[in-house]
Amino acid sequence: MTDDTTLQAGKPGDATANNGSGPAVGEDAGTNQPTSKPFGNFAIDFSGDGGGTSDPVSINFGPPAAPVAGAPAAPAATGDPAAAITAPGGPRTDARHGGRTESKVIIVGSGPAGLTAAIYAARANLEPIVLAGSAPGGQLMITSDVENYPGFPDGIQGPELMAAFRAQAERFGTQIVDVDIDRVDFSTRPFRIWARGTEYRGEAVIVATGASALWLGLESETRLRGRGVSACATCDGFFFRDKEIAVVGGGDTALEEATFLTRFASKVHLLHRRDAFRGSKIMIDRAVANPKIAIRLNTAVDEVLGDAKVSGLRLRDTQTGETDEVDMEGLFIAIGYRPNTDAFRDWLDVDDKGYLVVHDETGSKVDGVFIAGDVHDHRYRQAVTAAADGCKAAIDAERWLESQGITEVSTAGAW
Ligand code: NAP
Repeated sequence: MTDDTTLQAGKPGDATANNGSGPAVGEDAGTNQPTSKPFGNFAIDFSGDGGGTSDPVSINFGPPAAPVAGAPAAPAATGDPAAAITAPGGPRTDARHGGRTESKVIIVGSGPAGLTAAIYAARANLEPIVLAGSAPGGQLMITSDVENYPGFPDGIQGPELMAAFRAQAERFGTQIVDVDIDRVDFSTRPFRIWARGTEYRGEAVIVATGASALWLGLESETRLRGRGVSACATCDGFFFRDKEIAVVGGGDTALEEATFLTRFASKVHLLHRRDAFRGSKIMIDRAVANPKIAIRLNTAVDEVLGDAKVSGLRLRDTQTGETDEVDMEGLFIAIGYRPNTDAFRDWLDVDDKGYLVVHDETGSKVDGVFIAGDVHDHRYRQAVTAAADGCKAAIDAERWLESQGITEVSTAGAW
């Protein structure tokens, strides 16, 4: 893959450069149809991770690592980067770097935290393996225009940004496998991680599995995601200037997002299913005092109306069952997040909200296991803060490996 083809069609503002599921929020749906490519019109093909048909830096990784005794067979390297292989029951995986299953660093997760950790670890010659998940790229893959990531004065599409992260990580020798992990064993080193029947072993592990926004679960909500339905006011609020929109939820996130959105929207309807908010008093007081916020309690969203983009909501009174339809140009879902910690809960500490607990910036209670990004951060939740966290975790992991005598030569200069 050459630099000039990497992001050839995904130029900022290009209406075709969205995630393939529809137009960006605030764009004319009529000119922005889904494309047949997995993430819009990008040259990078994530579907089999075999898109790198020519390695720009020609890194030779040597023969694949010897199989771990007793472990299920690792995906065999075909030697043909285009001939991606299929893990049993799982998505296509990468044969490009020899199908390695052992590394000094295994990174779990492929959002901004995971891929930034990979860039740094790869540049320190740690040859990281990223277990990217079956839907790689994290939350930015469902985000349209990203206008707050530094370095992109005209903004960039979320999937396009993640394609660039990925290409940069791969350029320095990261092996990325698009599989979900099933379980981990952090009791001994090397640490062991199982994904779709394959055992991966890492001397250090960086957990960067992120958090997932919760959704209502309506078919119409899914269909209109990115077309007026969003779960991120910071990301998408700007596109609702002078529009009438709604926020669903009764916690601090909903109260905060409703207040934030009044900077843009002409009116924000805050819809909560019960008769009392669960958010903090100060946030409730702030929302109640805001003349641009209209609070509607005991209200559930039964359907998001609209074909190409959101045009209204069908609401239901949760006490009487009565329904009505209201005009609305946007809907923000703010009913909480779920950190993706299932595989780690037996091994790492979680706080009372279910997020992983970090010690000393990026460490965990297991020596050699590091944590980065939204899986522990429920305060900032931004791509740029997650990326910074990934950088820190990689540097900490590299220094730790060195302190253990696992890496012989200091690569501190490689940063
Ligand atoms: P949360 O406190 O769990 O609140 C979620 C809200 O969504 C609840 O009101 C809940 O309704 C509602 N909800 C859940 N599922 C729903 C569904 N299917 N349909 C409709 N409504 C649904 O989550 P959060 O607001 O994201 O806050 C999470 C944590 O982060 C909290 O501890 C919060 O204090 C903290 N936080 C702090 C700040 C800040 O300090 N600036 C900002 C954001 C978040 P019920 O009330 O009926 O259960």
